[in-house]
Amino acid sequence: MSRVLVLNSGSSSVKYRLFDGSSTIAKGLVERIGESGGEVADHRAALQGIMDETDLSGLVAVGHRVVHGGPDFTGPTVIDDDVVARVEALVPLAPLHNPAALTGIEVARKLLPDVPQVAVFDTAFHATIPPEGVTWAIDRSLAERWQIRRYGFHGTSHAYVSRRTAHVLGRDPASTNVITLHLGNGASACAVEGGRSVATSMGMSPLPGLVMGTRSGDIDPTVIFHLHRVAGLPLDEIENSLTRHGGLLGLSGDNDLRTVLERRAAGDADATLAFDVYCRRIREYVGAYLAVLGRVDAITFTAGVGENAPAVRAASLAGLEPLDIEVDPERNERREEIISPPGARIPVCVIPTDEELEIAGQSRTALSLPD
Ligand code: ADP
Repeated sequence: MSRVLVLNSGSSSVKYRLFDGSSTIAKGLVERIGESGGEVADHRAALQGIMDETDLSGLVAVGHRVVHGGPDFTGPTVIDDDVVARVEALVPLAPLHNPAALTGIEVARKLLPDVPQVAVFDTAFHATIPPEGVTWAIDRSLAERWQIRRYGFHGTSHAYVSRRTAHVLGRDPASTNVITLHLGNGASACAVEGGRSVATSMGMSPLPGLVMGTRSGDIDPTVIFHLHRVAGLPLDEIENSLTRHGGLLGLSGDNDLRTVLERRAAGDADATLAFDVYCRRIREYVGAYLAVLGRVDAITFTAGVGENAPAVRAASLAGLEPLDIEVDPERNERREEIISPPGARIPVCVIPTDEELEIAGQSRTALSLPD
């Protein structure tokens, strides 16, 4: 038995999945931790509950999803006190995300002291992006002092779906170039060259890049100065607006793309504009990453929207036939693995992501355990 427990700890939730090899033998979600009406009082009680309900015999590792690995964590890392201290030191870079992961790690280490624990970072896959792809043209001394650069996120998903894409196409991942489009509540694009990330759309935080459910994606930073100086909004309020009231929600009043699609079908103008802005941004990144990669062997859609919204896949890539990119309407509607016409030079794929499975695999790798 080679069981791995994967934990994804959020500020008020813990998602867990127990793997035996690559099969899932238990999974669940504890929500509203510490909230009135919630099931449990704190993360310790949540994890204790998960452990009481789940047969953890034969457990060889606990894999923790950690959002921000900063500049130093470039792969899955076996957790010890030093690693915990280094993840703590990164909290200023990810104040909304890393504290929850740290709580999960602390509790799991206490409750399972004999099981090795591994941190798998959303940023790590992007450590291979060359300096010119992670450096912004700002004062270098400021950037160095405050660790300001692109880090990128959704790394486990981009790694997993780019590798799966190569397998689906019968190719070697090490010689396959893929543009991956992770379109969930959060959304990001990635250019993957031979299994290594060389460009991605999120930045120091998960705010920039594509349009998301509630996050703005790319904007001119002057918008922030303007809202502060001219509109008189405090910084916290601006941050809240761009992260929680932007994106599809800001444009249309709905953050769920399903609702946006329904309203668009009924002729709603705001929903139509939201959809158009969303797809246009994807197209812009596809164009940019075609240029970054030079040769592209596949374009892959994944996550909630990418896997389930044929309209987004069709609209984002419409009119790109001169670049050998085409979506076959029927294959797209049927959500086949390959949705481009037969024999297309650049296949377009739909590959379900599985971040937890990737975290389990990377946890075993970090511990030199067999799959
Ligand atoms: P997360 O980023 O939280 O993991 P998901 O990858 O599950 O999120 O994506 C969630 C989003 O996927 C939802 O906001 C919803 O808009 C979208 N989605 C899910 N199913 C569909 C569907 N059938 N059609 C269009 N969009 C969908």
